[in-house]
Amino acid sequence: MSADWTRESAARIADAVRRGETSAEEVARAHLGRVETAEPTVRAFLAVLKDSALESARAVDAKRRAGRPLGALAGVPVALKDNLQLEGVETTCASRILKGHVAAYDATAVRRLKDADAVFLGKTNLDEFAMGSSTENSAFQKTTNPWDPARVPGGSSGGSAAAVAARMAPLALGSDTGGSIRQPASFCGVVGLKPTYGRVSRYGLIAFASSLDQIGPFSRTVEDAALALSVVGGHDPLDTTSADRPAPAVGAAPKDLKGLRVGLPREYFIEGLDPEIAAAVRAAVDVLKSLGATVREVSLPHSKYALAAYYIIAPSEASSNLARYDGIRYGFVDRSAASLEEVYEATRAAFGPEVKRRIMLGTYALSSGYYDAYYAKAQRVRTLVAGDFKAAFRDVDVIAAPATPTPPFRFGEKTDDPVAMYLSDVFTIPSNLAGNASISIPCGLSSSGLPLGLQLIADHFGEETLFRAARAFESARPFPSLNG
Ligand code: GLN
Repeated sequence: MSADWTRESAARIADAVRRGETSAEEVARAHLGRVETAEPTVRAFLAVLKDSALESARAVDAKRRAGRPLGALAGVPVALKDNLQLEGVETTCASRILKGHVAAYDATAVRRLKDADAVFLGKTNLDEFAMGSSTENSAFQKTTNPWDPARVPGGSSGGSAAAVAARMAPLALGSDTGGSIRQPASFCGVVGLKPTYGRVSRYGLIAFASSLDQIGPFSRTVEDAALALSVVGGHDPLDTTSADRPAPAVGAAPKDLKGLRVGLPREYFIEGLDPEIAAAVRAAVDVLKSLGATVREVSLPHSKYALAAYYIIAPSEASSNLARYDGIRYGFVDRSAASLEEVYEATRAAFGPEVKRRIMLGTYALSSGYYDAYYAKAQRVRTLVAGDFKAAFRDVDVIAAPATPTPPFRFGEKTDDPVAMYLSDVFTIPSNLAGNASISIPCGLSSSGLPLGLQLIADHFGEETLFRAARAFESARPFPSLNG
């Protein structure tokens, strides 16, 4: 019997393709087969690129036969969140307003995956313009959690997280503005990395809140997250906020965690945190300790204001970034309009309710007379939140925290209460405001069999520290995998 390539890691697949143990086409077909069985329930994809995936897989195989060296992701099927531009393919941001918008160029991260011989399987579902925590804000469909179809996969990158959890792809890209990689990773029981701001070029990522947005990978092993970052990370002249330093190479698996100083933030173990998650995080910290790490309490006193500051800053930037969707340049236009004014109005009516709410919040916060009271104040809070992390990282190398306050919730549970939905990111948002590196890894299952996530946070450009801690944890406590 031949191997089931949908159960293998990206690293293992790339190695097997390079050595000729399998072909990129066989790997692509295995994953497309898995899409056929799992996708009718999971609904992770807005578009499955079957023909082009097989075509690029065959191109990888031809390259190998011609004796040319293959890249780090040779034949690895990758799913892309549908806010990343892939040349020639529709990019919708799960919004009616971008329906019909075909990308004219590749995002830098996408281009680097191509250059590494990855194979694109499809574009994944998200909350419209990455605003949300459940995929319920998608204009097109809801993605279900592969562990329990009655529950959300998290969001906004819920499609990418679910695709990896359901073994439709070993690797996916998402974007994280306030938690949109780490929260769905936690809900779907996979690894999700939000790199340091500036680590991965944002060129070709459709902007939500430019000072917070960061592209990152989903995978089922920590090594795969490191592998993906080594490919997509690094300086890009096309993004002025891209940091001028190389992405870390995938290191060797750590033997232990001797010398690693772990901090537990007092303020993250609050009322409202699900007791099973609190217990799972504390148990995970004990595992880190047993591997040689030392643990102490740290304080992030301003983190309790982070959510409020985020919901000023992110909508403010969004209101500016989304001003370009006026019916003239991209995607949808309402052609029944009689005047220019009406074109704008009728076209922008295509935004969904959450996007409209953000645009109104942001426009209000930036308007004269309110700017100082809201936007400027939120920016000051942001500086204080970042300062808390800087102070903590003088004493510890990595902070261990819950990824989310609750396990995956049911559809409809939070749709009537935007603030309840916003609270999904209470533990992830501080790292976006500070711009540091953060990863969510599975740390167990709840009593009802739902995945729980551990968040590890390191200082700016501390991804290697995250990978070291996360890989050691993973080999001591192998991640639960989905049956079926
Ligand atoms: N859920 C948060 C929001 O709705 C974060 C989204 C994200 O990270 N893109 O803004």
